[in-house]
Amino acid sequence: MDLYEHQGKELFARAGLRTVEGRVATSVEEARAAAEELAGPVVVKAQVLTGGRGKAGGVKLAATPDEVAEHAAAILGLDINGHVTRRLWVERQASIAKEYYFSITFDRGAKRPLFMLSTMGGMDIEAVAVDHPEKLARIHLDPAMGFRPFFANRLVFAAGIPKEERRAVAAIIEGCHRLFVEADAMLVEVNPLIVTPEGEVVAADAKVTIDDNALYRHPEIAAMRDTAAADPQEQMARERGVTYVKLDGAIGILGNGAGLVMSTLDVVDQVGGTPANFLDVGGGAQADEIVSALEVILSDPKVQAIFFNIFGGITRGDEVARGILDALDRLEIGVPIVVRLDGTNAEEGRAILAAAPHRHLHVEATMLDAARRVVELAGGAA
Ligand code: GDP
Ligand code: MN
Repeated sequence: MDLYEHQGKELFARAGLRTVEGRVATSVEEARAAAEELAGPVVVKAQVLTGGRGKAGGVKLAATPDEVAEHAAAILGLDINGHVTRRLWVERQASIAKEYYFSITFDRGAKRPLFMLSTMGGMDIEAVAVDHPEKLARIHLDPAMGFRPFFANRLVFAAGIPKEERRAVAAIIEGCHRLFVEADAMLVEVNPLIVTPEGEVVAADAKVTIDDNALYRHPEIAAMRDTAAADPQEQMARERGVTYVKLDGAIGILGNGAGLVMSTLDVVDQVGGTPANFLDVGGGAQADEIVSALEVILSDPKVQAIFFNIFGGITRGDEVARGILDALDRLEIGVPIVVRLDGTNAEEGRAILAAAPHRHLHVEATMLDAARRVVELAGGAA
């Protein structure tokens, strides 16, 4: 789960990091009131779950409440990389002498958290990594060793942070690491980490992603989710406890088991199709579960055809077939569904489906045939 900047900063504050005072506003009036309360120069920032807000005009400096109102009117409703701004963060303005970059991510290849620090912050860090790799310090943390003060010092030295700022930057690194561990984060990024003309070091931006699988341990963070901004299918799937990942294509994909669904995506791609999603019904074969999953897929207008890939194991093919027929009875289905049924009792299952013909139901015995069929039914290869 991605957090808004102001939520990330709230976690920073809880982790003992210094943050700048600010207010959330969802209207021009609220933004003006926030500016009046803060009484001084502020920065008005779009709260959207995407980066590049500065470039898109979503971050504006303002000296007076009138200016804040003007910027708020321009930023509310602004589309930033497909995310419409509905929320603002009005924060006391910090003066910037320098902009640094800091992040902690998981490096899955190295199986360790990766810490990155650079004095070339504020800009696109991918460009820094390519054009000035020597300016981006990258150090993995050995989990067996744990976080020790010398680790932060090593990073600060490797990045070439000036002597007078090292202590403050190291403290931020330590605080961010504490937050990373305690909140089960996947990402903690501060860009820019600013140095004020007085030499203070302040997190001017916060990008925090929490591991969804750990959210049950953090109800106060889970409650930060902005359901209004969530993708409707993802929201629906979450409410129903269905594993769902939205993709860009035209073919709705469901299967029983994550490994099977992943290979289904590959096979669909191989025959020129584009998956619209990844949906795992797990061991589920009951009509209720199938209805639930199909409803999530059918609510996505991009879906032109559905591929239901089943491998009978503990769940038998005949049970799944009955579940599918029951689901088809209960749903209004306007797109073709191709079912590939294999494994335990597959023949019985296919016989059950064959005995109850349905206008939109197509049955195939192999994954490849089913993939070809569904791509054809969805209007051909991309
Ligand atoms: P992003 O573009 O989505 O990453 O948004 P940021 O929060 O990083 O803001 C973009 C840029 O706005 C930063 O790199 C800063 O240069 C500037 N900015 C953000 N907050 C402040 C602030 O408090 N004071 C000043 N002077 N500039 C700011
Ligand atoms: Mn930023």
